[in-house]
Amino acid sequence: MSQVLILAEFSADGVAKTVAELATAGARVGSVTALVLAAPGKGGALAGLITSGPIAEVVVIESDAFEKYSVAAASDAVAQVITARAADAFLVASSAYGKEVAARVAVQIESGLITDAVDVGADLTATQLVFGGSTTVHSRVSHGCAVITLRPNSITPDLVAASPSITTGAFEMSASAQLAQVISRAPYVKGGRPELTEAQIIVSGGRGTDGNFAVVEAFADSLGAAVGASRAATDAGWYPHSLQVGQTGKTVSPQLYVACGISGAIQHRAGMQTSKLIVAINKDPDAPIFEIADFGVIGDLFAVLPKATEGVQARKS
Ligand SMILES: Cc1cc2nc3c(=O)[nH]c(=O)nc-3n(C[C@H](O)[C@H](O)[C@H](O)COP(=O)(O)OP(=O)(O)OC[C@H]3O[C@@H](n4cnc5c(N)ncnc54)[C@H](O)[C@@H]3O)c2cc1C
Repeated sequence: MSQVLILAEFSADGVAKTVAELATAGARVGSVTALVLAAPGKGGALAGLITSGPIAEVVVIESDAFEKYSVAAASDAVAQVITARAADAFLVASSAYGKEVAARVAVQIESGLITDAVDVGADLTATQLVFGGSTTVHSRVSHGCAVITLRPNSITPDLVAASPSITTGAFEMSASAQLAQVISRAPYVKGGRPELTEAQIIVSGGRGTDGNFAVVEAFADSLGAAVGASRAATDAGWYPHSLQVGQTGKTVSPQLYVACGISGAIQHRAGMQTSKLIVAINKDPDAPIFEIADFGVIGDLFAVLPKATEGVQARKS
């Protein structure tokens, strides 16, 4: 049976973020082992957070090197587990961290690498959307263990209860992984909203907000959504660049994406058009965003959003 290794990542609030999605993709291929890389004494608790997904085994490796040497240490550990187990595939989330680990691992084990896949088939054929989503590419790694990064929210996770066996592992740090060391960390200060790239719902604002994101945020909060922005809004300094959606911002794939006062330029679409359901609010009926919207509201967002917020709140109470 094919062996698939996935890398488990956890958010600060203790959620095994994309584990079930990676496991679901991996289970199409073969038996799934989740790798947990943890600080000394923390591995067991992290492994316990993996409660769902078709996972046969969890391997926990504890080392202070993961804090100290970050992706370099993680890549050494992953590469050594892949080699020891002769894994057929390694799946990791398309986060900045995941992509860097994947790239380093692919170099170390001399395998092919596919990034930003939105799907993975049973024969390890990966699907990617390129050129702003206008072209679908199917590709397979032809040499060695297939290293594939998978965009969060692309695959509907199989939330079967996980009851994996848990084993501990070890690894050896290479000299090259110790060339750079993390000397300090500042925790990212974030509000109460979900992470943009992992959110199930995103409400984004564009130039049409004229810099007033209050109505966008209120609607997002009523839905428990993340807030995103077009580049016009981030370039104007109205919203942080870290929350920009698009070709030069984040790529998102939520269940629901609400574009408010965003025209739908190709570079914006590139980052959001794989969203499952797209709703556009725009006062221009000819705005290109309506070409990809499942539902459209032609109107002033300052009139539509407060009413929508009221409607959501009324349904909740
Ligand atoms: C190399 C490159 C990379 C880029 N990368 C990105 C990227 O990553 N992300 C990105 O977003 N853009 C990117 N852009 C910019 C992109 O081309 C567009 O300029 C940008 O997306 C436009 O943002 P917008 O839709 O908010 O603004 P506009 O195109 O100005 O559209 C504003 C929309 O708001 C509507 N509107 C105005 N007032 C209201 C109102 N009161 N109520 C409702 N609707 C209203 C208007 O009808 C209009 O459709 C990139 C461009 C280049 C060249």
